[in-house]
Amino acid sequence: MKAQIRLGRIFGIQIGLHYSWLIIALLVALSLAGQFHAANPQWGEVTIWATAIVTAALFFVSIILHELSHAAVAKARGLPVRSITLFALGGVAQIEKDATDPKTEFWMAIVGPIASVIIGSVCLGLASLFGWRTPTTPETPLVAMLMWLGVINIALGVFNMIPGYPLDGGRVFRAIVW
Ligand SMILES: [Zn+2]
Repeated sequence: MKAQIRLGRIFGIQIGLHYSWLIIALLVALSLAGQFHAANPQWGEVTIWATAIVTAALFFVSIILHELSHAAVAKARGLPVRSITLFALGGVAQIEKDATDPKTEFWMAIVGPIASVIIGSVCLGLASLFGWRTPTTPETPLVAMLMWLGVINIALGVFNMIPGYPLDGGRVFRAIVW
């Protein structure tokens, strides 16, 4: 996966976007705007769209954080990481060498879902701090955004633990068998 749009570097790792990502970003923003519109029509168009776009952007930041967590473990274990690219189905960290021991493979894989679940929990914690009570629909854009980011990140963490290659869960499972 080669990045066509370069965003810059974090800790020496090139962060980039593949064109296919733009379609998904648009779909996520459209679907969020639809959801916000259905739940809180009184917000008005500008607020609904602004909230949808900011939420979509933060969702992609959380995917970059997930990939950075893989990259951080890889680097700490002496495996060079060249880049992180976001594409239609998520993110991918380009690690230049394969893990040479199961322990490295295990931690490198499992840290991603852990990062997603932590990000999701922090978002839900903040949502409740700002007044969200289950099962009510969030009434302010901030709480709606935090709640959506919380649910999606926890879902992402759980989904990634499905033991199928090339999901993180598949690599965790492979490391355990290894
Ligand atoms: Zn991952």
